[in-house]
Amino acid sequence: MSKVLIVGAGGVGNVVVHKCAQVPEVFQDIVLASRTLSRCEKIAQDVAALEGRHIEIAQVDADNVPQMTDLLIQQRPDVVVNVALPYQDLHIMEACLTAGVPYVDTANYEPKDVAKFEYKWQWAFQERFRDAKLMALLGSGFDPGVTNVYCAYAQKHLFDEIEAIDILDCNGGDHGHAFATNFNPEINIREITQRGRYWEDGAWKETEPLSINMDYDFPGVGVKKAYLLYHEELESLVLNVPGLRRIRFWMTFGEQYLTHLRVLQNVGMTRIDAVDFQGHKIIPVEFLKALLPDPASLGAGYTGKTSIGCEISGKKAGKARKVFIYNICDHEQCWKEVHAQAVSYTTGVPAMIGALMVLTGKWQGNGVFNMEQFDPDPFMDALNRYGLPWEVREG
Ligand code: NDP
Repeated sequence: MSKVLIVGAGGVGNVVVHKCAQVPEVFQDIVLASRTLSRCEKIAQDVAALEGRHIEIAQVDADNVPQMTDLLIQQRPDVVVNVALPYQDLHIMEACLTAGVPYVDTANYEPKDVAKFEYKWQWAFQERFRDAKLMALLGSGFDPGVTNVYCAYAQKHLFDEIEAIDILDCNGGDHGHAFATNFNPEINIREITQRGRYWEDGAWKETEPLSINMDYDFPGVGVKKAYLLYHEELESLVLNVPGLRRIRFWMTFGEQYLTHLRVLQNVGMTRIDAVDFQGHKIIPVEFLKALLPDPASLGAGYTGKTSIGCEISGKKAGKARKVFIYNICDHEQCWKEVHAQAVSYTTGVPAMIGALMVLTGKWQGNGVFNMEQFDPDPFMDALNRYGLPWEVREG
């Protein structure tokens, strides 16, 4: 009997719960815990209606390590899937160590007061997880996550030598709002407004935010402008893909989105430091989050598709080769299946599959791991089986 405990009842948490509920042969018991119990109740009702399964729910502040640990000791899950916010990562990892439970997440830890995307805080848990004979699987979403597994698959099956990787993330969908983010607004805006960074010839190169772009022909969507950003999977892939000469990350944005973002930045609404307001301290980006649509609410009426993949070039049998490994996901289909939009869906499905890899022993190890460190084949099979089929385009 396997029990999964999912932390975070947001847009992604909703998908993880539904997808675990669809695989009862692995996930016999499901517990959803989050800060606001009413959000867990809503998801539990939806899972009962769509999948006919009962899940347990619990209230927890995951930043309170003793409270989180008590919940794990009381529930005794076989794996924890953390889809709360990156700020909770270290606290939930501490609780997992004390309670002796494997850990899976989808986003690297970020300190609240500085938008910094580095694995160093989580990698520092390596020895403690190894000594406790537990696995921590980092970044089991789409990007990071599936993109790392695509790279491992390319390395195993398609190339003798990988020279360059471009990770390309396109949301060609329309949610009908003038401005909204597809996942947690605070985390999303912090990510996009930081300086760009990519790795080439053994060194990191920095760029002004959103200053480099290119047109790319995304399968299923068409030509879109993609902007160079720093993204966390670059840090681990540089270490784990031998011989790599260059790796970059690109994301598409529409003109309307960028104009709103520029105005919000210019007036100070994206600031992450506290400002005085009528005798109170407020953090502008947290206030902005309260005004923007909840990403979990965007699903109904969302049309169009996401198209995300890795363009990889290198050599096979002495000849130059270039491939694009990708998935296309339809917002409307996601809504029909699990009442979510495709950005939550493409994150929640791999989070469920990561937990499934741990529970079924297909991925095993003691310590802290990034996705590309394991055999990609069972994960790639599971993507086809559980809703994120992939294709390989040559050339
Ligand atoms: P949401 O903001 O919709 O949901 C986050 C949930 O976590 C909320 O329900 C929130 O509770 C809960 N939460 C926040 N703090 C705590 C706490 N201290 N204790 C317990 N629960 C808490 O975010 P998303 O669902 O959009 O995103 C979830 C995660 O997925 C994020 O970490 C994001 O970075 C990651 N992500 C990863 C992607 C990938 O491809 N790898 C892509 C997209 C997202 P409350 O309702 O009370 O606020």
